[in-house]
Amino acid sequence: MTLPNTSRRSFLRNGALLTAGAFLSPLASLRPAATDLLIGIQVGPESFVDEGVDALLDWLKDKAGVNCISLTTFTYGQGFAGRMGPGRLYPGHGELASKGAPFHGGNFATPHPEYYHDTILKDTHAPDHNGRDILAEVLKAAHKRGMTVYCGVEDRWDKAFDVPGLEQCAEVDLRGRSTFDRSRSVTTCVFNPNVKAFWMGLTRDLCSSYPIDGFLFENERSGPLTNALGATPFRKTVGDTSHVACFCEHHRRAAEARGINFERTKQGYERLVDFVQAALKDQRPPDGYYVTFQEIIREFPEIEAYDRMCDEGKIQIVEEMHKTMKSIRKDLKLIFHIEQTICFNPFNRATLNYDRLWDKAEYLKPATYNNCAGERYADFVHTLGSTIFRDVPQDELFTLLNHWLNYEGFAPLSELPKAGLPASYVAREAKRALAGVKGRCGILSGIDVSVPVGEGSRIASPEDTYAATYAALEAGAQGVVLSRKYSEMRKELLEGAGRAISAWRNRT
Ligand SMILES: [Zn+2]
Repeated sequence: MTLPNTSRRSFLRNGALLTAGAFLSPLASLRPAATDLLIGIQVGPESFVDEGVDALLDWLKDKAGVNCISLTTFTYGQGFAGRMGPGRLYPGHGELASKGAPFHGGNFATPHPEYYHDTILKDTHAPDHNGRDILAEVLKAAHKRGMTVYCGVEDRWDKAFDVPGLEQCAEVDLRGRSTFDRSRSVTTCVFNPNVKAFWMGLTRDLCSSYPIDGFLFENERSGPLTNALGATPFRKTVGDTSHVACFCEHHRRAAEARGINFERTKQGYERLVDFVQAALKDQRPPDGYYVTFQEIIREFPEIEAYDRMCDEGKIQIVEEMHKTMKSIRKDLKLIFHIEQTICFNPFNRATLNYDRLWDKAEYLKPATYNNCAGERYADFVHTLGSTIFRDVPQDELFTLLNHWLNYEGFAPLSELPKAGLPASYVAREAKRALAGVKGRCGILSGIDVSVPVGEGSRIASPEDTYAATYAALEAGAQGVVLSRKYSEMRKELLEGAGRAISAWRNRT
């Protein structure tokens, strides 16, 4: 089996170069040889059903330069698997083989019960595709072509109300409501032992039962602080308390073990939520919005401590997953997807610090999706500008954030969704990540290929995808992951990415 030789050894070698006093060397010295690049793509199992395993692998290899398939193997979300709905069925993606059957999700491989003894989440086998084991089929065909296969695993349980035991694993919000509620999406508690045991069982199962090359793991959930402020471009309804979580008994025990007063924490979050609600009603506190926010944080340091604890719970699962993989086979690799809020949100930049993440995986994959980023960044400015920075005109807040985040050359805020972000954004984020990890792990830039946007927002051209892909490689990334899922991608954009990869490999 020929694998793209993006070995950890070469990162260690690069790391050694750096620690040997080469900090002043340009980052270009870390640039991988063209043959070392990991060119990945996220593909859901339905695309292999619809287009045929051999035909799709050949197309991706020949036209898009792909040498690594991240095959979505576990999720209940449709950002990572499932065909597109009417109006989004782009040409060239084959017949809808799953026609008439609604997307369900779950484990698309064949689960082996012996790995799930320690958890109540025993039955997650996806009923989609009539039990056909796409992972086994893709592995065989991809390895024959010298392509690697990672299992795409996402912590998304959206509407998985029929999974036995899931209700006991659901998060509980600030108001004591379970997220196991048909009017919302289920989220699971990272401190619940059943949840941890499930992820480790799934990891052991897939790594032991299939000759895979690794995992691409994704968990985009934010902590209670970010959610209380609505400071995420993914949660457009600011003031929604339903995801200020988790406040279940497992979280209470975790807080107590760390000396964090659980009742004070809840009081603090209630104060924060009241502050947000008042801001949305334009009820300006006497000291102004920002100072009042700081007063709340000073009075309740538990808010920050608890948010950090929630984040640690999320990261701990990644660490244990990585350790478990390595205990099964040393050559298994983990790609850890980092949500796009690491770019725009200064709080998340501080939390998801690269210096803290480098040892969690062989590769980090920041979601630097530049086309939809225009819309997402603008949404973030609006949400942040409607609460703690409500006293600041939003254009000025946008300018301030650009200074803080080291961005320039973007369209004005009012035109940002229509303009998207330039390819230079992808390069800046790749360079920032590379500088943060200092050669101790690889950076794979997440490239936006038809990530859905709202009406009136930018629709990317093949030249845009070319420019973003080339910019990532030129910045020194060890590769790219074409995202989010193949079934939503226009094929001419993928060909644009393929041309960029080939041009970069052949540059003089
Ligand atoms: Zn909990």
